Amino acid sequence: MAKTMAINAGSSSLKFQLIEMPEETVIAKGQIERIGLPDSIFTLKFNGEKFETIVNIADHEVGINYMLEQMKEHNVIADLHEITGVGHRVVAGGEFFNHSVIVDDEVLNKIDRLAAYAPLHNPANATGIRAFKKLLPDALSVAVFDTAFHQTMPEVNYLYPLPYQYYTRYGARKYGAHGTSHRYVAQRAAELMGKPLEELKLITLHLGAGASITAIKDGKSLDTSMGFTPLAGVMMSTRVGDVDPSLIYYIQEKENLSNEEMLDILNKKSGMLGISTLSPDMRDLLAVEDTNKHAKLAVEMWENRVLRYIGQYIVELGGVDAIVFTAGIGENSDPQREHIIEKLNFMGIKMDAEANKVRGEETELSTPDSTAKVFLIPTDEELMIARDVESLKNN
Ligand code: AMP
Repeated sequence: MAKTMAINAGSSSLKFQLIEMPEETVIAKGQIERIGLPDSIFTLKFNGEKFETIVNIADHEVGINYMLEQMKEHNVIADLHEITGVGHRVVAGGEFFNHSVIVDDEVLNKIDRLAAYAPLHNPANATGIRAFKKLLPDALSVAVFDTAFHQTMPEVNYLYPLPYQYYTRYGARKYGAHGTSHRYVAQRAAELMGKPLEELKLITLHLGAGASITAIKDGKSLDTSMGFTPLAGVMMSTRVGDVDPSLIYYIQEKENLSNEEMLDILNKKSGMLGISTLSPDMRDLLAVEDTNKHAKLAVEMWENRVLRYIGQYIVELGGVDAIVFTAGIGENSDPQREHIIEKLNFMGIKMDAEANKVRGEETELSTPDSTAKVFLIPTDEELMIARDVESLKNN
């Protein structure tokens, strides 16, 4: 038995899960928020109880130290040596990584170099890795890349029709994201269907605050909606998704905005928040959509952008065996699932309205005569990270 830690480090937060492997039992989980501020929040859930403290956590290393101490104090672990592996989510792996790897100096160096592709995420991910290596030097350190699963995309799909030298010189191409989530739900869908993943055509919909859609063929990512960065693709909570690039320069000029200001608008002030002028959160919009025109429009636009990708990917795949809903909206919002699948009825893809009344539970949503299965599969990126640590340990 070994305890593996799955880590998702952001710039001012760190989420963790301690998982017993190979049993795949979650022992404890929690997070540290507001790292760097005097009133950081530490949360630990263990044995059905929740412990929360407000403390001053100056940086990631202090936070990780505090977390490990708290785990000892609450008897989650007796000794640090019980943690034999730590898997880290890393957002950008570029073309260097098409699977998870054991972290050595060269890997860390590459994660640092890829910071330009994910400026908000990669430096935080690297900080988390370094801090754990220092505090748990004997545990196997593994990097699990969001982009790795999409490295199987063919050139035809990952290239942008820009001058080719921008690709060779600067790596200007589509990398995608949420790969760990798409990989997990695709595997689960194949298990639920009792068929090898390699024989299935799947469309996986990761619909959370950030959202991406992936076409999976022969068990591999064929195409995905996010791009060079996670800004592209469908409309998201605050991210714009696909937009005519010339419009950006037009608005910048009209509003006299710097590149940074414009990028901030595209990342943080657009999407559902931008259209609704109310909230980035789907729940808030659904609560008022009957009376608020802008909220209704935002929800309708969001559904429309999701549908466009499904249509595109059904054609790219040459059909579809299953469509999978996951992440916050995909797992919890039955009206959105219903509206999306309704538009596919003409192809014989049909949803069982009763089955669809479910929230956050693995469920087959399609009718028995549907031409493709429709599933709700809650994502579990942490488990996937722990599995990757385990398989690299046994290599
Ligand atoms: P995530 O980023 O995966 O945590 O997903 C966050 C999104 O899920 C937010 O837009 C939430 O409003 C949405 N969400 C969570 N619960 C529900 C729900 N019951 N109905 C609709 N949307 C939900």
